[in-house]
Amino acid sequence: MENKFEIVGKNLNELEQFMLANDQSKFRAKQVYNWVYLKSVKAFDDMTDLPLSARELLKEKAQLCSVSIRDKQVSKDGTMKFLFELKDGSFAEAVLMRFDNRANLTACISTQVGCPMGCTFCATAKLGFVRNLEIDEIIQQIFLIQADTGLKVTNIVYMGQGEPLLNFDNLIGSIKVFREHFQIGARRITVSTCGLIPQINKLAELDFQSTLAISLHAPNQEKRQEIMPVAKKYKYDELISTLRKYTDTTGRRVTVEYVLMRDVNDSVDDAKQLAHAIAKLKSNVNLIVYNQNEKSSYKKPTKEAIQKFKYLLEASGKKVTIRLERGADIDAACGQLSAKMKK
Ligand code: SAH
Repeated sequence: MENKFEIVGKNLNELEQFMLANDQSKFRAKQVYNWVYLKSVKAFDDMTDLPLSARELLKEKAQLCSVSIRDKQVSKDGTMKFLFELKDGSFAEAVLMRFDNRANLTACISTQVGCPMGCTFCATAKLGFVRNLEIDEIIQQIFLIQADTGLKVTNIVYMGQGEPLLNFDNLIGSIKVFREHFQIGARRITVSTCGLIPQINKLAELDFQSTLAISLHAPNQEKRQEIMPVAKKYKYDELISTLRKYTDTTGRRVTVEYVLMRDVNDSVDDAKQLAHAIAKLKSNVNLIVYNQNEKSSYKKPTKEAIQKFKYLLEASGKKVTIRLERGADIDAACGQLSAKMKK
C-alpha cells in the first residue's frame, strides 16, 4: 500500500506523467481526472470507459486516496457528520449540510488535527494540537463526501477542526484545487479564522476571491482575551484595522462571526459596543447561537437576547444573519467537532 501513487489531489499534468510513465496515453489521464473530480467515483472499477488493462494498472500501482471514512452519522435534519481516518491513524471530521429549498450543499471541512488556539468555548480546542493536515488530506474530504453520497458539493466552509490560516500553504493550495478541478467557484468558498494578523495581511496580497470570516466573538479587547487567548497576541483594535485594510485592498466585505453566549457577550451593552467597533468595517454579521455540550460550562443565550442583539446591530446599519443550528443530535453542530485521536 505504502508506495502507491495517490490520485485525488493531483492535477492533470501530474496524472498524465503517471500514465505516460506506465505506458498509457495522456488521454487516459484526462479520463481518470474527470472520473475523480467531476464524478467522484468510489473505485477504479467504476471508471467504465477505461479499458480493463488501464483499470488493472491503476489498481496495482495507484490508490484513489489515503484518507478513509471511518464513521458517518446522519442527523434528523439531514446534516451528515463524517469521521475520517488519516494516513497516520489520526482522525478529522467534516460536516455536510443541505439548506432548505436550495440546491446548495455546503461542506464544512477541517485543516488540522486538533487545534492550538485554545478558545475556551470550543470542543476542538480541548483536543489540543496534533498536526496540520496535508493538502491531499484537505482535498480528499470533499472527494470522499461526494463519492460516499453521490452528491455534488456546491459550497465549502473552512470551519471544521483547526485554524486554517496556520496551515496557510495547504489552505491556499486546496482552494486552488477546489476551484480548478472540482469547479467550485471562489465565491462559494469561505475561510474562517480566529484572527491571525500577519496571515490576514498575506491573504490581502493574494488574489483571494473567497470570503474571509472572522471569529470576533467579543465587543472589546478585555472580553475577547478572556475567551480567545489569540487576542492577547493580536489586539482587538489592531485586528479591526487590519480587516479594514483587507477590505480596502480586496474590495470584498468580510463576515464577522459572533458566537452568542449567555451572560458572557450577549448583553445590550455588548451589542452596542460591537456595533461601534465594526461600524467602519465593511462587513456582514453572522450571529451563532452557542452550541452547548456537556464538557462546557457556557450556555446558549435566551431567544429574547438573540433578537435584541440582532435588532441593535441592524439598527446600526449591519446586515445580520443568525446561523441555524444543524446536526445538534449528532454533535455536528458548529463548534462541536471533537473526534478523539486513536491511541
Ligand atoms: N479556527 C477557525 C475555524 C474554527 S470553527 C476560527 O476560529 O474561525 C468555526 C466557528 O465555530 C468559529 O467561529 C468558532 O469560534 C465557532 N465555535 C466554536 N465552538 C462553538 C460552539 N460550541 N458553538 C458555536 N460556535 C462555536
